Amino acid sequence: MADRAFAVVGMGRFGSSVAKTLYEMGYDVMAIDTDEEKIQDHIQSVTYAVQADSTDEQALKELGMRNFDVVVVAIGEDIQASILSTLILKELGVKKVVVKAQSERHGKVLYKIGADRVVFPERDMGARVANNLVSPGILDFIELAEDYSVAEIAATTGMIGKDLVTLDIRARFGVNVMAIKSGENINIAPNAEDVIQEDDVLVVIGHNSDLKRLEEKSK
Ligand code: ATP
Repeated sequence: MADRAFAVVGMGRFGSSVAKTLYEMGYDVMAIDTDEEKIQDHIQSVTYAVQADSTDEQALKELGMRNFDVVVVAIGEDIQASILSTLILKELGVKKVVVKAQSERHGKVLYKIGADRVVFPERDMGARVANNLVSPGILDFIELAEDYSVAEIAATTGMIGKDLVTLDIRARFGVNVMAIKSGENINIAPNAEDVIQEDDVLVVIGHNSDLKRLEEKSK
């Protein structure tokens, strides 16, 4: 399945998790870090683990960085190193460079110098946890655009034993049910006649305020 090759720079908690997950999914992954100890820790969990400094253009060239489909820059604290590495990778011709940003301002600079995607794991996770604290019925959500999200909502007592046509979620809340998760199984094309069972999770899409209404109404 290794049809795409990834490189991850910086084996902090985030970079390490990205690298290990991709490797477990069957992709080729090169892990890069300046810290020899971090490299030793990752030898078993990626395809290659290499000690190198990503601000060293020659070193990146020698590692053949332009042959990777995606390079993830996961250096957090040293903002200068993160920016410089991104710049060098884009100059070397890497098609897709994904960078972890520490702050909005850091993110803006990264986009300006050519990063293809900037991620804010701490900010996004913080928002997800906060949302879950205020709306415990929303198990998880992914913001698609400003104000629109995909959310996972636990089926409530009021829903159990009813089919989708009876619940009429679309007309009542303006929210679409995209899938129904029942334990390990997932029904990705739910029909009007599908009946909600206990412990089911509804994967829904809609405006944030409508999703909130659905969550509150169905408490
Ligand atoms: P996390 O929150 O994901 O744990 P972080 O945001 O605190 O990480 P850092 O610890 O600053 O990020 O950096 C992550 C890793 O990046 C460290 O292991 C560090 O050794 C490595 N690193 C820093 N600068 C470079 C560089 N120029 N080249 C390669 N690796 C680097």
